[in-house]
Amino acid sequence: MAAIAAGEKGAKVLLIEKGDKLGRKLAISGGGRCNVTNNLPIDEIIKHIPGNGRFLYSAFSVFNNQDIIAFFENLGVALKEEDHGRMFPASNQSASVVNAMIDQLSRYRVKVMQNTAVKDVMYKDGHVHSVILKDGQEFESDAVIIAVGGKSVPRTGSTGDGYAWAQKAGHTITDLYPTEVPLTSDEPFIRTKTLQGLSLRDVELSVVNPKGKTIIAHRMDMIFTHFGISGPAVLRCSQFVVKELKKGKQKNVTMKIDHFPDINQEQLFQLFIKKIKEDPKKAIKNIFKGLMPERYLQFLFKKAEMDENEQGASLSHDKLRTFAGLCKGFTFTVNGSLSIEKAFVTGGGVSVKEIQPKEMGSKLMQGLYFCGEILDIHGYTGGYNITSALVTGRLAGVNAAAYSRNLK
Ligand SMILES: Cc1cc2nc3c(=O)[nH]c(=O)nc-3n(C[C@H](O)[C@H](O)[C@H](O)COP(=O)(O)OP(=O)(O)OC[C@H]3O[C@@H](n4cnc5c(N)ncnc54)[C@H](O)[C@@H]3O)c2cc1C
Repeated sequence: MAAIAAGEKGAKVLLIEKGDKLGRKLAISGGGRCNVTNNLPIDEIIKHIPGNGRFLYSAFSVFNNQDIIAFFENLGVALKEEDHGRMFPASNQSASVVNAMIDQLSRYRVKVMQNTAVKDVMYKDGHVHSVILKDGQEFESDAVIIAVGGKSVPRTGSTGDGYAWAQKAGHTITDLYPTEVPLTSDEPFIRTKTLQGLSLRDVELSVVNPKGKTIIAHRMDMIFTHFGISGPAVLRCSQFVVKELKKGKQKNVTMKIDHFPDINQEQLFQLFIKKIKEDPKKAIKNIFKGLMPERYLQFLFKKAEMDENEQGASLSHDKLRTFAGLCKGFTFTVNGSLSIEKAFVTGGGVSVKEIQPKEMGSKLMQGLYFCGEILDIHGYTGGYNITSALVTGRLAGVNAAAYSRNLK
């Protein structure tokens, strides 16, 4: 996006890509269909970028999610909206998005070098001087845009190479950590794989602090795995768990699952009473069937020390209240996450305090620009990271072109 924007503004652009393909990570986003952006209002988009989303307000006043949509539609890539505002190509093929961008590169005569890794960025007297390739070649340039991504999923090419180049220019790299990442747990029910493979739909998953206060809650689907938990609700909660653990005060973080987020515990209890009254002689496993997945029901019965074959009529109200409590708030602990390499997104990066918010230029080095995941900006999956990358990319490209033009 940065190269397209710079080319569109008339700059002579060289795009250097380490891999044999452009846009490899973009192509695998959104389950391989390319989640180009999100159609929610700007305030909502910012809310879904918990890692410095507010920094993007000024950038969005220049180029935002609606501009991304218009950009692709002008290129003939029809888009469609799915749940939670997520925008995808109508073709369901990430290739339509990536190829349309590659076509724009040729339209603006951007020279592309693939299978070419940058080794270093050189600076001289407070401004950028050149880019050095792994094979030793050097390209001098008035402006350099660093768009090398974070450290997650390195097989796509993002191996964290850019942080050292930013540091060399005097930039602060805030702590790097995995976000949008599955969580690990050593709870006995995870170790014994009791719930492995079980998905819970539309539950409210919370991260709870040591005082019992909810830090964050997300209502989405989740899944139990052989190492812990995963799925959309878990990915969204993950950065809050990682941050709690990073404080170093606790080895475990408590999480809570509310399987009935639309009603309170008393209403749930009354619902159970009503169900029992309808068929008091039936075994409770049959009375409560259909209220939640069978494996989860059996699991919570065990937790509440209830015999699934017991008749509804003989169940004490105390037991039923305990059961309703578990349905509303089954708590368990997690003790970590998968690695930053296995995370969908890298948290932390080049400090946004040192970046001009409307231009993406470095405040410390003339002619140096940053965009995308290398910046200390991270959002939830759902098109928010890509929105941030495309918006900051557009600004970096336009302003790098203007900077080099003004020097001439
Ligand atoms: C599986 C998966 C699914 C995702 N799904 C979503 C989603 O649904 N919604 C969402 O918003 N986000 C999603 N993301 C995150 C999103 O894809 C990234 O935030 C976004 O692609 C970042 O863009 P970027 O251009 O900054 O970096 P990248 O896309 O990582 O691109 C960086 C490029 O720089 C190249 N490069 C790196 N080092 C060098 C070097 N030394 N020399 C030359 N080139 C180099 C790399 O090869 C790469 O092509 C997902 C990520 C993954 C891994």
